Parts: sequence; C-alpha cells; structure tokens
Amino acid sequence: MSSMSISGRAVSKRRHRDSIRALLAKIPILTYHKIENRREVGINALPPEHFQAQLACLQELGYTTITFHDLLDSPELPEKAVILTFDDGYASVYEHALPLMQPYGFRGVVYAVGRFIGRWNDWDANLGGIRFRHMDRRQLRELADAGWEVGAHSLTHRALSWLDETSLHREIFGSRDLLADVAGRMPASFAYPFGMHHLRVREMAKAAGFAFACGGINSAAEAVDPLQLRRVPVYQFEGLSAYRKKLRIAGLPRLEYLKLRILSWPAVLTPLYQKRFRRELFLEMEGMPGVYSNNSND
Ligand SMILES: [Zn+2]
Repeated sequence: MSSMSISGRAVSKRRHRDSIRALLAKIPILTYHKIENRREVGINALPPEHFQAQLACLQELGYTTITFHDLLDSPELPEKAVILTFDDGYASVYEHALPLMQPYGFRGVVYAVGRFIGRWNDWDANLGGIRFRHMDRRQLRELADAGWEVGAHSLTHRALSWLDETSLHREIFGSRDLLADVAGRMPASFAYPFGMHHLRVREMAKAAGFAFACGGINSAAEAVDPLQLRRVPVYQFEGLSAYRKKLRIAGLPRLEYLKLRILSWPAVLTPLYQKRFRRELFLEMEGMPGVYSNNSND
C-alpha cells in the first residue's frame, strides 16, 4: 500500500505502530504471580530472596524495567528494557515485590482481577488448602502512584474463549473501567486469564481500547502481535542461569521453550475445575451491582 494515498497523520500513526512492534520484538516480558515464602502446591510462589537475586541479575546485565504505558508515551526508551508482569494482583506483590524493586528504580505491571480486589483467591482451584489474598484498592492505587501500571485481567478470571458475547464484553470492558477507577488511569494492557484467547477475545480487547494484551508462552512467537504477546513465566525452582535464558526473547532456547510449554500446560485444569464446581460463584460475581460504575452497559 502506498503512503502517498493516506494522510500524514495516518503515516505517523503507522510509523509509531511499526516502531512499537520493532521495540516489542526486543523486549522480554516475564510473568510472576506470588512473591512470598509460603509454599503452595503449584510452582508460582517465588521466595522474596530468589526474586531479589533476579533483580540484582537484571541490574548487572544492564536492564531497565518499563511498562506498557511507557511504550505508548515515551519517545526514548532504554537500550535494554524488560517488562516484569505480576498476574492476579496478589497482596504479596505489594508486600514484597514493591519494596524489593524500589531500590533498583524498577517498576512492574500488575494484572488485577476486578471482582477479587481485596478478596481471597476463590476463583482458583486451591489444591493445598492455602488461600492467598489479593491487593485491595488502596494498595493497587499506591502501586500506580509509584509508577507501576495497573492492567486488567478480567473481572472473574475465567477462560474468556469459553464465554458468550455478553459475558465476554462485561469481563473486558468492565475490568477496564473498574481498573481505570482504581488506578486513576486507563489501563494500557490486558492479560488473558490462563493465557487463553482466540480471535473473538482479541477483537474485544482491541475494541475496549487496549493497545497491548498478553498471553502465555504459547502465544504468537514469530511476528510480534501487540494483542497476543508472548510472556515467559518464572517458576520458583529455577536458578539464575535459567532466568538469564528467559531474557533471550528472540532466541529462547528450544529446550527451555519446550520445558515452559509443558510446565504451563496444567493451567488448563483450573478453568475445567471452575466450569465444573464454581459456576454459581461466577454467576453471582458477574451479576454484582455497582462495582464498576460507568460505560459498562452492554
Ligand atoms: Zn491469572
């Protein structure tokens, strides 16, 4: 398509989009969940001292953290950038990750689950009987005020690909409005629960104005698509040499990639569990009135 036929504004918009894609191709995006010492049955709770060693490693390698807001706002980005994302908005991120990152000048992106702000993680399968608390509104606001990005992770943390149009709309638009209200700023990015998405889900995220949306390790790896960004999970049992490999976004070693794909597979069991045993909870939570205020009618 010739650029002669479109306006200067469209050209610069396209250039901006192209340059963001080029930047994204070089930026590793890591996924964390809980930063704390309590052990769970899963592999997502990282001890704070491990996390601190990883931060020191990032600094030593010359990395600077950025957020998706930075990608949209800043014409100048650091030479070596990394995005640290924290899924589900657990209180341990506020208690441990925030104070550990501050001395390094690092900021993260936290993906909060709208209806579970300030509540226990009842949406999860909870295998070992240990419950985890989600951050409340005040804690999320404090993160936002410290330069973190508060992104959206749906309202109820269900597999979005399985929802009908009305529920899908509510999960994406509703969490957008709720998180904008909590953080005082419209979220720039969305994270698909369980990393699960298909075309209809991605189109709804785009319609809601999200410039970026994150999937899991299985998301598009070749051409960078801002609405299905591949993220690399960090697990509690891995050492620093595995961690360094995760930063090689362009060339994640084949074995490492296969290992991560296998490890992320059991995540599909939770939505099955939700569907079978937690139907009532989600119907009730979805219908909760007054949690998000405006622009949320279908
Ligand atoms: Zn999640």
